[in-house]
Amino acid sequence: MGLRTQIGVVGLEAIHASRLHRVAPRFMTGVGTILTFHQVRPARPDGFQPNGNLEITPEFLDRLLSMIRASGNEIVSLDEAHRRLREGDFERRFVVLTFDDGYRDNKTYAYPVLKRHRAPFALFVASRFADGDGDLWWIALERAIAASERIETTIGTTAYRFTLAGDADRRDAFDTLYWALRALPDEDEMRAIIQEMADRAGVATGAICREFCMDWREIADLAADPLVTVGSHTDAHIMLAKAPADRAHADIARSVARMQAELGTRPAHFCFPVGDRTSAGPRDFRMAGEFGFKTALTTRRGALYPEHRSHMTALPRISVNGDYQTLRYAETLLSGVPTALANGFSRLDVA
Ligand SMILES: [Zn+2]
Repeated sequence: MGLRTQIGVVGLEAIHASRLHRVAPRFMTGVGTILTFHQVRPARPDGFQPNGNLEITPEFLDRLLSMIRASGNEIVSLDEAHRRLREGDFERRFVVLTFDDGYRDNKTYAYPVLKRHRAPFALFVASRFADGDGDLWWIALERAIAASERIETTIGTTAYRFTLAGDADRRDAFDTLYWALRALPDEDEMRAIIQEMADRAGVATGAICREFCMDWREIADLAADPLVTVGSHTDAHIMLAKAPADRAHADIARSVARMQAELGTRPAHFCFPVGDRTSAGPRDFRMAGEFGFKTALTTRRGALYPEHRSHMTALPRISVNGDYQTLRYAETLLSGVPTALANGFSRLDVA
């Protein structure tokens, strides 16, 4: 799931060893990078952590922020990144830090580190998560598999049957089921299948949202700090490209209205849930523009280039993968070199 699969550990090691990430010219490395984070919390001993790619430790965040600055990057807010792209102000390479979903651990563990580094960052909130009744289906799937001895389910036209004796079985089952579910064109169907698995395993999915996500008061506390930008991550965290236009529009509209009501300001930035090609496409980039967002962020992989000036609502990011917490890899990824290679030196991916 991340760049690891596209470039490979060997590729990252090779790039790092070649020092290409240090000497590559600007046309290759771009003018800046937007980094994606999800959860930040202390390492857990569990052997089955299929969503572990989505979390890093506070200690790694701390070292990462030092490395970003030591390697000559400025850490800037999304507003400032937007200004630099618009005005072509590329004197210094910049990095934007973005945290998706509104996890409470962002406040408990990430915020103190960010504050100590005086690092601006953006928090992308799905309003239903803050309301307390959102569906964090990837965690429900993890818990359903963790609590099951066997799984039998049908996804699309394929029947799946797993006997789960240990962590390795569960990891295999998760990988297979996760990608089969993600391939479904109908997200409601995907969520219903996961809910059924969770019900059968006795997992209380209704409590997951409150357990993991900040409520509005907690978000408002953070929003009061000038270092913090709070952006919209839709209402129900839906993969917009899979929804009809009216539903996609209504979902974003509700998120904007909820944020305005709870935080007193209209969000200026947007981030597409899941954010890959199956979840956000040209219609959605246009829609984000029509809502007046200054930027909208995908999870398509890449650095920022001057050409993104004309595509502010389809900006790429680079995910900081929790399976992979070494500064060596992070520095290499941050440079934009691995993604430039993986993208065949194509600087824009907006279609
Ligand atoms: Zn998300």
